[in-house]
Amino acid sequence: MAAMPGQMMQMPLLISSLIRHAARHSGDTEIVSRRVEGDIHRYTYRDAELRCRKLAQALARLGCTPGDRVGTLAWNGYRHFEIYYGASGSQLVCHTINPRLFPEQIAWIATDAADRVLCFDLSFLPLVEQLLPALPTVRHFVLMTDRSHMPAATALPNLSCYEDLIDAEDGRYSWPVFDENTASSLCYTSGTTGHPKGALYSHRSSVLHAYGAALPDAMGCSASDVILPVVPMFHVNAWGLPYSAPMVGAKLVFPGPFLDGKSLHELFEQEQVTFSAGVPTVWLGVINHLKCAGLKMSSLKRTVIGGAACPPAMRQTLENDYGVEVIHAWGMTELSPLGTLSKLGASHRHLPAEQRQHLLEKQGRAIFGIDLAIVGDDGQALPWDGKASGDLLVRGSWVIDRYFGDAGCPLRELDGEMWFPTGDVATIDTDGFMQITDRSKDVIKSGGEWISSIELENIAMAHPAVLEAAVIACRHPKWDERPLLVVVRKPGAELDRERMLAFYAGKIAKWQIPDDVIFVDEIPHTATGKMLKMKLRQQFAGHTLPDA
Ligand code: AMP
Repeated sequence: MAAMPGQMMQMPLLISSLIRHAARHSGDTEIVSRRVEGDIHRYTYRDAELRCRKLAQALARLGCTPGDRVGTLAWNGYRHFEIYYGASGSQLVCHTINPRLFPEQIAWIATDAADRVLCFDLSFLPLVEQLLPALPTVRHFVLMTDRSHMPAATALPNLSCYEDLIDAEDGRYSWPVFDENTASSLCYTSGTTGHPKGALYSHRSSVLHAYGAALPDAMGCSASDVILPVVPMFHVNAWGLPYSAPMVGAKLVFPGPFLDGKSLHELFEQEQVTFSAGVPTVWLGVINHLKCAGLKMSSLKRTVIGGAACPPAMRQTLENDYGVEVIHAWGMTELSPLGTLSKLGASHRHLPAEQRQHLLEKQGRAIFGIDLAIVGDDGQALPWDGKASGDLLVRGSWVIDRYFGDAGCPLRELDGEMWFPTGDVATIDTDGFMQITDRSKDVIKSGGEWISSIELENIAMAHPAVLEAAVIACRHPKWDERPLLVVVRKPGAELDRERMLAFYAGKIAKWQIPDDVIFVDEIPHTATGKMLKMKLRQQFAGHTLPDA
């Protein structure tokens, strides 16, 4: 017998519906931004939605048609927020690019994505001018500023002023209705080997993620919140907060490029921020500032810390000294990004304090919409006993199916279902709390940003005195991990630490250059000739970096 169809309306899950909802139901709620220009800008969801519609009109006037990619090189701010909605809402793809990458990598990513328009903050004008010859797909450049800040002269052809584009439109534009599976935004990750790969989100996946992220045991977003995302809008859509905040009608505060402890604390206090989110390195800066200046947090109630493991001492300091609840979260670009968060359930309340702390230090439980599995070397599922540690697999409504373009399909099968292999190694306990224990992918994560060990090894190998080179992650108190270069010199060749490190200058972004070099007689290998990084990591686990 045929199943009976439900009799409910079909309303596609579209990103434009989030901003429309906020404008209608929380129209007076503010969005406050510290601008690149240095001053504070404030307006409301109602104002923002009108400007998003004007931007949609302007992008169409520039010749954009559905599916075109609109690249951004921008900090967290209201104009970036408008591009999120103006581009995605009009069936274009908002492609956020990480400006901290090496210029060649930025150009490679913009070209791989075939960005048609590139919108960028004033701070990135020299960078974009320098990159111009390497951006063949870009037809229009948009400087995200007003007329008074436009350069008198520039090498960029077709450079428009963002505010002029907005001012030229009347806003008489209705958000189009289309298939919710349409692509909405694109974000590249360099967290794996080879070239960066794009995660292409859909309207459906983004709206479902926004629902999931806002749940009480996830980020717990509410209309009574004032939310300041420290995590950049070019890092997986600021963990979805620019979508979840309008969904619930929360006030948004954008810090612009000013991410140091002092600037952040000022903004927390001035705007009475209740909730924030960022990587551990950012919180280290905030805590240091609070300690040195003898300050307190008067309004911040909770923060999500993720992107790298949150050190237990950081949680304790924030909770005990400043009254800020820490929610430890795990996710990935390929997961939009939220996968798990650590919150206690009713059954955990009676546990001794130490055990409760122990649970909260884990990466946490999956949000509804995400399913987890761990597998052993034989590819078989491992038990959820908190002890068995294996490769972490995920599946769900906001997990990628394949990478953008022809970068491939990473999925693998388990028990008849397709799963995304995360490259993380984890345990899961009987209650479903996941804990990351290691990483099988060969990368270093420094202050929330990826550094490719392979790229660093290739550069070292190009030095005439180097026989073999391996780069491993070394613990660092501020950056969590920093690259450590292990080198075998060619017989008779002379090479010291300073000359080896100087060899990296100009070949890679400064912050990606290894912190230290260790010279060894040989690097351990597997039977098949692969470098045994795990063994190297164990061997140099106690190594202290020069500035640590
Ligand atoms: P990205 O795609 O840049 O967001 O990086 C995702 C990766 O960062 C994960 O696969 C983990 O290796 C790491 N990561 C993210 N959150 C955490 C966390 N809470 N603890 C440990 N590692 C994390």
